[in-house]
Formats: sequence, C-alpha cells, structure tokens
Amino acid sequence: MPPLAGFHLHLYQPPREDPWLGVVTNEWSAWPYHDWNERIATECYRALIAVAVTNGDETATELVEPLTMSSTDIGPTLHRWLEQCSPDVDQALSYQVDHANSGPQSLMIAAPLVHAIIPLANADDRERLVAWGIADYRRRFGATPLGMWLPETAVDLASLDCLARQGIQYTVLMPTQVLRVREPGAEWRTVDANSLDTSKAYFVRLAQGRTINVVFGHGSLSQRVAFGDLIDDGIALADEMAGALDGEDGAVLLVADGETYGHHHHFGDLGLAWALRRLRHHYGFETTLGVWLARREPTYEVELAEVSSWSCAHGVERWRSDCGCVTGEQPGWRQTWREPLRESLDWLRATLGGAVDQALAEYLHSSGEALLQYGTVLSGEVDPHDFVAARAVRDLDAAEVALVLEFCEVHRNLLYSFTSCAWFFADPAEIETSIVLRYAAVALGIVRRTLGKDYEPEFLEHLGGVHSNRPGIGGSVLWALACDPFRFDEERIAAGFAAERLACVGHARIERGYWRARAEMVESDPAELRVTLTNTLTFREREFRTSSQRTGHLGIRVRVDDGTAIREVSLGELGADVIARVGASWLAGTGSADYEEALNLLVARVLANPAGEDEVAVLVALAGAPRYVTPIGEASIRRAIVAIAGQNPAPDLSIVAPLAKALGMSSVVTREATSVPPIRFS
Ligand SMILES: [Zn+2]
Repeated sequence: MPPLAGFHLHLYQPPREDPWLGVVTNEWSAWPYHDWNERIATECYRALIAVAVTNGDETATELVEPLTMSSTDIGPTLHRWLEQCSPDVDQALSYQVDHANSGPQSLMIAAPLVHAIIPLANADDRERLVAWGIADYRRRFGATPLGMWLPETAVDLASLDCLARQGIQYTVLMPTQVLRVREPGAEWRTVDANSLDTSKAYFVRLAQGRTINVVFGHGSLSQRVAFGDLIDDGIALADEMAGALDGEDGAVLLVADGETYGHHHHFGDLGLAWALRRLRHHYGFETTLGVWLARREPTYEVELAEVSSWSCAHGVERWRSDCGCVTGEQPGWRQTWREPLRESLDWLRATLGGAVDQALAEYLHSSGEALLQYGTVLSGEVDPHDFVAARAVRDLDAAEVALVLEFCEVHRNLLYSFTSCAWFFADPAEIETSIVLRYAAVALGIVRRTLGKDYEPEFLEHLGGVHSNRPGIGGSVLWALACDPFRFDEERIAAGFAAERLACVGHARIERGYWRARAEMVESDPAELRVTLTNTLTFREREFRTSSQRTGHLGIRVRVDDGTAIREVSLGELGADVIARVGASWLAGTGSADYEEALNLLVARVLANPAGEDEVAVLVALAGAPRYVTPIGEASIRRAIVAIAGQNPAPDLSIVAPLAKALGMSSVVTREATSVPPIRFS
C-alpha cells in the first residue's frame, strides 16, 4: 500500500445562463471569448483532459490524463455548462472515468447542486443542496458518491451530519479548520494549522453514532501551488511533495481550485502533469485520494472549529458581513453590503418558500419530501410527470402538473440565489451579485403569476440596505441593472421562434434554452404561425398566433396575439442569440451560422449606408455570438463601431458601449468625445 501524494481539484464556475431563457449570456469582460466559461474551458478544463509532456531527454511525447490520476469535484453548475457548451470535455471526462480501473467513486467526488455556503442555508435547503448534488452525480457517473466537496470548504457539524445521513463517507477540508485531535485511547490534544498532522485521515463524531471521515489538504504546499509559483516546475513540486511525506503510509494532498492549473497559472496544467507522472512513475506513490482512502479506516478523531471555511478566517462571515476578507478591494471600499444582501435573500427565501409550500400542499402529499426528491427530476433520472403523479393527492390535469413543477422551480431559483460568489468579491455591482439577483427575480415572477402575490416591492425595500461602493448605486439601481436587460416574457420568446422561422426557415430552432416551440403555418404562409410554447422545465404551455414581417434591410417586427392581448415585438427585443441568427440569415444567406462572414458583410453595408438601430443591434449580437471572435471578426467589429459612431446623426450607441469597452474603444462611442481617437487595427 503506497503512500498518497496527490491532488484534489475543485472545478467550479457559477451558473452563467440567463435564468429566464436558459441561454448562456455573453460576458464582454471575457473577450474575445463568449463568456468566462469558454475562456476557462480553453485555458484549463480542456487542457486537463490530456496534457502532452515529453520524456526526460525529449525524444518522445506522451499524454498524461491528470483527472484520472487525481481526486476531483466539478460543481454541477459548471458540469451542466460543459455538457451543453463544451461537450468534448464532458464526453472525454466521462470516457476517462468509465475506463479508469479505480472506478468513478475514487476519482470524482460530488458537490452540492449550488455553490452555496451550506452552514448558512436553512435546514431544508441544506438537505436539498446535498440531495440534489448527489442526484446530479449519480446520473453523470452511474454511481453513488462516497465523497462530497463543500463549497468554500464551509462546514459545521450540522452540515457534516447532513452529508453523513445522505450516505456521504468523507469530505476534504483545510488544516485551518481544526481545533483538537485524539489518538485512539488518548486524551484530546489542541492543534492548529501548523501542528495538525495532515498525513492521516480522521473521523468526526456526529449525532446518533454517525461519523464522517475528513482528509486535510497540506496547508503550505496547497497555498504555494494556489498563490505562489510552485506549479511552475512540476518536477520540483513532486520532489517537495515526496519530501513532505511522513512515514510509509502517510498522505500529502494538495487542495486547490482546478482553475489554478492553466487559468490562474498559465501552463499550470503542464506543471500538474509533470508532477503527477513523477509521483506515480518515479516514486511509485498513489496519487488518487479515493484509492488511498478506500484501504483505510481512520482511527484518529478530529474536532473541528464550530464553523469554518478555507477563504474566510472568521468562519463564514465573508458571506454575510464586512469581516475584512475580500478579493478585488479598492482603497476605501467596504463590504457593509454583504449583511443586507444576505438578509434580503433570507427574507425572500422564507417568504416565497412559505407561500409556495402552502400552495404545494394542495396538490402533493408531502411537499417537503417531494422537494428533497426534486433533484432526481433536475438530474434527468426521473420524468417530471412521473415525479408529480407519484406524489399527487388526486389526478392532476396538465395545467396543475405544470403548476406543481413551477412551485418546485421557485425553490430551485431561490437556492441558486444563494450562490456564494455573490458575497465573495469587493462590490455588489459586479456580475457575480447580478447573477443571484436574476434568480431571485425569476422566483418572484413565478410567484406573482401563479399565486397573484407581488413581493417585489417589499423585497426591494429589504434590498435598499445594499449599497455599492460606486456612488449612486443603491439596492434598487443594482436590481434594475442586474435584471432589466435580461427579463424575458413568454410573448418575446414566442416572437423569437417566429422571427427565426421567417428568417432562417428550415434552420430555425425548435428549442432555445428552457423553451420549446411547435409552430404551424397558417394557410402555408411562413410569416403567419400558430406557436405552441412549452417550458421544458415545467411543461407550462401557451398558445400564440404570430405574424412576422421583415422591415427595412435587417429589421423584423413580430405581432404576438395570445387571444386576449396583442404585442408588437421588434428586432432589438428578441434576445442576442435570435438577433444573431436572424441577422446572419439576412446578411450571409438563409440559415447561415457564419457569424464572422455576416459581420464582414455588415461592415460593407454600414460603410455604404447610414446604420440605424437594427444594424447596431445586429452588430452587437453578431459580435457576441461566436464562442471565440477571430482577429478577422474583431477587425470588422472595430471598423463598424468607428463607422457607426462617426455618422451624423449617430444612432443610439448605448447598447454598443459594453462591446466597445471590451475592445478598448469606449471613447469612440462616448458622445462627449469631440474627435475620434486613433484606433489600432493591427
Ligand atoms: Zn473573513
């Protein structure tokens, strides 16, 4: 039984899809990538699947697969994105895990469905986060997880007991989280991060005779990999790990964010691969925690700090108060916004959750038990209709089934609104806090429509205590900035399907994010449709009669009639993904998905003809459509921005501003600019 010298990789990104549509929205700050996940997937996740390393004298190259030699957790919100947007990574990982000798349970550990601070969740949510994470793991890897990662390694006894009751056998923590240890038959001994012997696995005693095992990462080496330059030299890293091993049966486990290897540290994937190869083949060590742990029954007991985490020295205060732990701080900034943000969302959880639970009780035998099992629906293990039918108090019709699923979705969106990143950074006027507010808005919207109760004004009163460090951005402004550009109603979604049908014809989508449409032509006219819109999460259905008309060169107008009211939707309201598809069809040919060619053709057009708001909308949508904008596309975008900004009068350029900022061209679109500064096209 060789000792363990290996790595645990915590791979995670917050959810990036627009929670109304289910479509991943563009993040200009990740330019020239579509969004941060695309960027990190290229730098890190795809790299970690297989790393090419040469042998000592560089006469041969071999592929090392770090993920099959390590312990890894992948946050379900990231894994879902990989499955949908980088399926090569997801499929290669599945193949590697399926074919590894040690099996999925030793390589992959589970994670709660949402990256929420478990000790701060209420008792019901704590159980659901864990149960839904286990369901997600079971569907992906075909096995029950043995280990579970706790977001931010945030832990208290109630969290550990929740894991143990749900069958989890171990978790990974850091040495700063420990208070005392006890050898078999000996007295308790107080330890700290420096004196804890991390070469052993420990157990924690829980209620009613339950226990859970804990493995601690090596403090200083993990720190030096994450925040120093130790990963730059894989050979030296492996030798340091070997030197740190104490005894023939011990462990040195380096624990860090998976993004350390390639994203935070460029070429960190290479350092990891070199280190793993040396640890395994030169030293003959075990590198996989799950394999090492499976052959051991921990006999040392550990007592943890009452509540703790790996990125806050004050327990879990970082996610509810101005404790001083912060990333991205500016001089004079405070994090007094954290407490009212937590309080607001706790209030919303209690208020909406209570209203929905009461409503659910009219349809289901035990709404609490049903919600605990809802993770099997989210994972795809159980058909949503079967899920409802098995728990219904009577036969429910289709509309009632949809209603039950909508109530479950309120709880899911509320859970997503506790994504920990919202509190992690220095200011709430950032993308991470915006994301959780959007989930809160979706939950509010469902309750408003289904129960006729509008809690938004009251929620905004609570949010009033949240102030950005940037002047003039209080709770209600923050709310508007976060949500208004993203809110989608069903009329606009139906209009999007109708617009694609007119412009893209046979290439029009029938599924878009969470939505599916069945469109039937009225009197064989592709402009006149009967659209049946279905939400694929809740099976809520709506019927619309749509009438679409091309306007001008690039524009479109869709008239949407639900039988009670008529709505006119213009191109700019359709959503960037639809605008890009419609624009590409009309610029580069029906059904074209060649966004770069469409961009080039758009430039040719705006050089010759004054651009209006349709051209501006198409420019921004096409710029944001590809997974990666090539230098050719970028040159076209730069030319188009300069050309449009130079028009007299220029159209409204506000929607171009974020794109121009990403390209370092903000001054070009600012009206105050008296002359256009020189732009480097090279
Ligand atoms: Zn702190």
